[in-house]
Order: sequence, then structure tokens, then C-alpha cells
Amino acid sequence: MEKTKHKITKQPYNYECSDNCCSEFGYIWTVNGKEVYRGPGEDEAIICILTELGVQVEIVGLEEQSGEEVWELDNYDTILD
Ligand SMILES: [Zn+2]
Repeated sequence: MEKTKHKITKQPYNYECSDNCCSEFGYIWTVNGKEVYRGPGEDEAIICILTELGVQVEIVGLEEQSGEEVWELDNYDTILD
């Protein structure tokens, strides 16, 4: 079975309100041309991307010793379709 190659883009943006009292830096993420997340959060972006790809994910914890993030993936097979 041939794997589908999805195109994910990550574009930085700066936002400042008209009063210059608040500013935000983050990324605009798209999956296959569709914007799925805009903001500073990396975890949120990853979840939105995988959700768009049809994968249900949940961040279940952070391994404190190694700093390695632990993920739970459901129906991972859909990635390979
Ligand atoms: Zn403001």
C-alpha cells in the first residue's frame, strides 16, 4: 500500500493589538492547505494536526527524568493509509 504524503506547513506570525498592550508570537499550521491551528502552543498544534489526519491523540504525561513526552495514539494505522 502506498503511503499518502501529507503536506504540513508552519508559518511564524506576530500579532499585536491596536493598543499595543498585548502581543503574541506563534505559528500558523496547515495540513494539506487547511489551517488547523494558529497560536503559540506546540502541544495544541500537534494535536490539531494529528486530529486533521484522522488520528485521535491524547497527551498523557511528561516523563520527568528524561523530559520525554509520552503519547497515546489510537488508530495509528490511519497514518499509513
Ligand atoms: Zn491589547
